[in-house]
Amino acid sequence: MRLETLEILRCPYCGGRLELVDSLFHRRTDDAIQDGILGCHCCIFPVVDGIPVLHLQPNATAARDHVQAGRPDLARRTMVGLEDAREAEAFEALAVSSAATYRDTVEALGPSFEGGYFLYRFSDPTYIVAQAVVRAVATTVLPAPSGVEGEGTRRAIDICGGSGHLTRSLMDLSSPPPVLADLYYAKVWLARRFTAPDCEPVCCDGNAPFPFARGAFGFAMCTDAFMYIWTKRQFVGEMERLIAGPGAPGAVLIGHTHNEKTWSPSHGQPLSAAGYRDLFETVEPRVFGDASLFADVVKGGPLDLSRRDPDDVLDGDPALTIVASPHPGVFARHPIDAPPAAAAGEFRVNPLYAAHPDGTEVRLRLQFPSEDYEQEYGACRTYLPEEIAIDRETLARLPAASAAGPLADLARQRVILDLPKRYY
Ligand SMILES: [Zn+2]
Repeated sequence: MRLETLEILRCPYCGGRLELVDSLFHRRTDDAIQDGILGCHCCIFPVVDGIPVLHLQPNATAARDHVQAGRPDLARRTMVGLEDAREAEAFEALAVSSAATYRDTVEALGPSFEGGYFLYRFSDPTYIVAQAVVRAVATTVLPAPSGVEGEGTRRAIDICGGSGHLTRSLMDLSSPPPVLADLYYAKVWLARRFTAPDCEPVCCDGNAPFPFARGAFGFAMCTDAFMYIWTKRQFVGEMERLIAGPGAPGAVLIGHTHNEKTWSPSHGQPLSAAGYRDLFETVEPRVFGDASLFADVVKGGPLDLSRRDPDDVLDGDPALTIVASPHPGVFARHPIDAPPAAAAGEFRVNPLYAAHPDGTEVRLRLQFPSEDYEQEYGACRTYLPEEIAIDRETLARLPAASAAGPLADLARQRVILDLPKRYY
């Protein structure tokens, strides 16, 4: 972790500042902490392989004991959560291998980890809606308003952000780099290594007060996770607190949260649109049906955040998106970014396509990893072609740093994607 991140970290329980305890085991450089112990007024927390672990669940306290005993290797093993020594060694071999991919590493974490679907995240229907809303709102609230002195670009936080797929979409908008917070250590570790390199990962509990200072962010978001949070009122109050700075108005975004009024195959404790609205106390929220936003994205924009979906429409939509901001520019129509010509990572074939060579061409066919995936994310058929023939010469340009010429069209269709380096 960067040393300067201590400026925004606060103990989730006493609210005190956190400092490196110099008298205990630590490894650090001039500007970063690799392993060590952070202390506040009430307790101590470990930093494990550069990631502060700011909760007191049993794995965190065991990891803290390992760090204090000078065994950061065992601390990381505990936080990654592989019980079997052989599996843990296999993971650790990948962790030091420069050839290991995101896919290899996820597989080493075992079959239950993220259900395997996160490899396909960058083109799934939930992601493309969330990405468009995140970009629209963050682009509006994060830059300094013109003429306001002393205000620079502000920071974003992705709470319960998993292995950082949406955090990645904040990298060019947030300064300093976005914070990615999640309870699952292995996920934020993966994000920093592959999905959102340079983000600042923090391991913390979404059901506890957030371990950050008031007003530390201009944009606070949480997608695909809010229905699993039990302490929803506290969670929203905490999001409001994080953006409650004295400067320009910020925004809170809760994307793709399930709707209590409809049936959903996933677990969780969803609320209705009216129930979600009642959680907000300091900023008035607007609730959107994900179906309306999805239709905007599929037709290429604009993304209409000026709409007011009536409650009977919201009540029929299985997933809702909530935006709360006093910024006048948020509830407007936003153009949707075309895929950038220059890759943040590298353009490669979408992993949902299987290649079938056919003479001078290669046929790419949409192939779902499982029936379950197809049931949950089959709406991607709306925008992903079932099959597409590409000449071998075009395909040979991949991986590519930019989507020029014939690649531009493939990028627009999401047949090729700007993926993190060493993704699969
Ligand atoms: Zn404390």
